[in-house]
Amino acid sequence: LGSALRNVQLLAHARETSLRDQLTGCFNRGYAVEALTAELAHSRSTGRPLSILMFDIDRFKRTNDEFGHLAGDATLRESAALLRRSLRTTDLLGRYGGEEFLAILPQVDLEAARQAAERMRRELEAQEIVLPNGEHQKITASFGVAALSELASLSHEVRADQLVAVADRRLYEAKAAGRNQVRP
Ligand code: GH3
Ligand code: MG
Ligand code: MG
Repeated sequence: LGSALRNVQLLAHARETSLRDQLTGCFNRGYAVEALTAELAHSRSTGRPLSILMFDIDRFKRTNDEFGHLAGDATLRESAALLRRSLRTTDLLGRYGGEEFLAILPQVDLEAARQAAERMRRELEAQEIVLPNGEHQKITASFGVAALSELASLSHEVRADQLVAVADRRLYEAKAAGRNQVRP
């Protein structure tokens, strides 16, 4: 019985870690997109709002170039931890790419999602990250927000990639406008 239990625990652990990004502990991209697909279906059947945020750390390459890759990793880990703390437990945070993240906010409309993004932007800006070499570093990020209500119509189903594309376009507008800001 002991080893059977251990096997069950190992399997549960393997399943859980296979959904997570190792560096940040956030969900990985594949799982985040699956979760978004499920939330879209849920919102479609309940009529509840749903919003997402895409955000990307500003000038992150500089951190790596100036302080090294390990400092970059530490910065990424700390930033992700801070951003996760400022979300609700019902929200889901995934690492979408290198230093780009996708947050899913169920039952949140566009205006509330914009406010959440703005709060996260301010909190990140206000915090200093301590690098492995003891230096302190300031970090900012740019945010693109998108709400299901902007795309939804009775006739067609909104896919995860369509909502992500809208948030991503806005994220790049925020970058182009000077970074450290939320769009729309
Ligand atoms: P922008 O403000 O336009 O986003 O500029 P940026 O420098 O953040 O963007 P760019 O896409 O040019 O560079 C992203 C950098 O992120 C390049 C890559 O080396 C770094 N990066 C991606 N993933 C990791 C990681 O896991 N660890 C570390 N240390 N760096 C990473
Ligand atoms: Mg970046
Ligand atoms: Mg990027």
